[in-house]
Parts: sequence; structure tokens; C-alpha cells
Amino acid sequence: MQQPRLTIIVPCYNEEEMLPTSAKVLGEILQKMIQSNQLNRDSCVLFVDDGSADQTWALIKGLEQQSALYCGLKFSRNFGHQNALMAGMKVAGETSDAVITIDADLQDDPTVIPEMVARFKAGSDVVLGVRNDRSSDSRFKRWTAETFYTVMRKIGVQLVPDHADFRLLSQRAVTALMTYSETNLFLRGIVPQLGFPTTKLYYQRKPRLAGESKYPLKKMISFAMNGITSFSIAPIKAILSIGVVISGVSLLMMIFALVQHLLGNTVDGWASLMTSLWFLGGVQLIGISIVGEYVGKIFAEVKHRPRYIIETDDYTATQQPAVLT
Ligand code: UDP
Ligand code: MG
Repeated sequence: MQQPRLTIIVPCYNEEEMLPTSAKVLGEILQKMIQSNQLNRDSCVLFVDDGSADQTWALIKGLEQQSALYCGLKFSRNFGHQNALMAGMKVAGETSDAVITIDADLQDDPTVIPEMVARFKAGSDVVLGVRNDRSSDSRFKRWTAETFYTVMRKIGVQLVPDHADFRLLSQRAVTALMTYSETNLFLRGIVPQLGFPTTKLYYQRKPRLAGESKYPLKKMISFAMNGITSFSIAPIKAILSIGVVISGVSLLMMIFALVQHLLGNTVDGWASLMTSLWFLGGVQLIGISIVGEYVGKIFAEVKHRPRYIIETDDYTATQQPAVLT
């Protein structure tokens, strides 16, 4: 029987410290599975260099020379983690029966990859890696993640908690994913919407072995904002509720001011005037900025800009469609 062809996609942004280890670990796992005839021998690890400024691409090139197990794709500049995943899946999805995405820092346990493949063979199109504890993450990271999941749940987006971007997708799941044409794709929200037989695989998440997180607070916030505004208009609706409350409060203020006026205490109206002025101004700005967030999103989508630009694609250049044996 023909064994499936698997491509492991690894987004890399300034990962020179981690890359040699990751390549070794992933390469060995793949090699073992190929040798024990669980996978087609055209299976490989595809590194997507997301515009790194360090030696990452040079290292990937070195790996390509070393073994056919490794392959690289290079962006013309930094397009972000999600786009690196999308590019990897697009390119690999053409020829692979299944793809697995995993971060270069190996925080997600790569030893469960054979189990993911086993579940794929058993009929799952989507296998989601779910970490069963987050003790290795910093307290801040845990808190922000929890808040994010809670907010998403409140606004009606069903995310799989503690599932990051470690997952297996079958070729048809990848093809389905590619039909979502929005520029700012929020993978964790879209993947559960694909349907197809899906299973969860639990694993232990480890601390980053080398290098530092490539997700500074700024990127984390924009990631969360994108997640929320891609799936829900709840924040826009919230403006209405806030507006109603504020108007109610202002009405009370008016009555209060009027009573004060009738009592002849109008001299010290300055404080209340200033407070309400600033307060209402602030609320209006919040409202406008939320609307602006959506208008910005529409602006970004109507432009139909590419998600990423590939500078070098060694995958398509070297990986021919699997030969039936
Ligand atoms: N990454 C990327 N582009 C970016 C930021 C990160 O491709 O702009 C990659 C990074 O190299 C790593 C993965 O995305 O393989 C996850 O990043 P990281 O481990 O720094 O995130 P964290 O685990 O801290 O959330
Ligand atoms: Mg990490």
C-alpha cells in the first residue's frame, strides 16, 4: 500500500539558535517513520523563513544540501507567523497527503507526530494538538491567553482552548482552508469551522529551549484583536450599550445640574462640566476607534493584497508529485 506523504511545516523567524536542534529532532522523527514504512519517502520538513534577519536562511540552505529530508521557502520580508503557516500549507498542500504545522522552538511535543499520523490514517482530516498544561509558560502569557479565550467565548467564537498552531491537516482540509480568501486569516478560528472528522491530541508543552519569544506584547495584542474583529461584531454592538448607559448618566447629570441651578448653587458647575465633557469625549473616541478597527479591516480586505511574497521556493522546485510504486 502507498504510504501517505507528509510535510512538516516549520515557520522560522530569527531562529538560528533553535534551528539546528529542531531540524535534527524533526528530521529523526521523519526518518524513522519513513524507514518503518509509515510514510512515503518523499515526506519532508519544510522550513518557511519569514524574512529572518539572522543566519536562519543560510542554515536552511545548509540543511537542504545535507539531506533531502529538508526543504526551504523564503519570504521577501517578515509577513508574520500566520502567513508563514499559510504559505507552507499552500505550497505543500499541492503534493502532500497531509501537513503538520509546528513551531521552530519545539515547545509543542514533536514526539506525538507519529500518533497524529496514525489518527490521520484512521480517518481524521484534522488532528488538533492540545496542550494539557501551561505550566511552562510565564504567568503573564497564561493570563493573557486565558483572558483571550474568555473574551472569544463571550463573543461567540468557539476556539479550542490551549490549541495553538500545532496540528495535522489532510490534503482536502488544506484545500478547503485555501478557499478562505480573507487576507487576515485567523487560523485557530477557521480550522474548527472546516468541519471534516476532527480529533484532539493532548501533549505537554515545554519551555522554549533557545532564543526568545518572537511574539512580543505588540504582536500578541494585534493577534488577539485580529481574532476578535475577524469573527465578531460584538464590540460594535457594545458601543450601543455603552452609549445608552452614558446617555442615562448624562440625563441624571442634567437633572442634577438643573436642581442645583434652581437652588442657586450654579457657581461651582465647572467641575461637573469638565468631568462630563472629558468622559463623553473619551467614550466617543472609544466608539470611533472600534468602528475604525472594522473600517480598517474592510480597507485591508478590499485591497486584496497578497498575504505574503515568496522570494525562494525550494519546495516546489525540488518536490515532484509522488511517484506511484
Ligand atoms: N514566527 C514567525 N514570524 C513571526 C513571529 C514568529 O514565523 O513574525 C515563528 C517563530 O519562529 C516560531 C513560531 O512562529 O517558530 C512561534 O513563535 P514563538 O515561539 O516566538 O511564539 P510563542 O511560543 O512565544 O507564542
Ligand atoms: Mg514558542
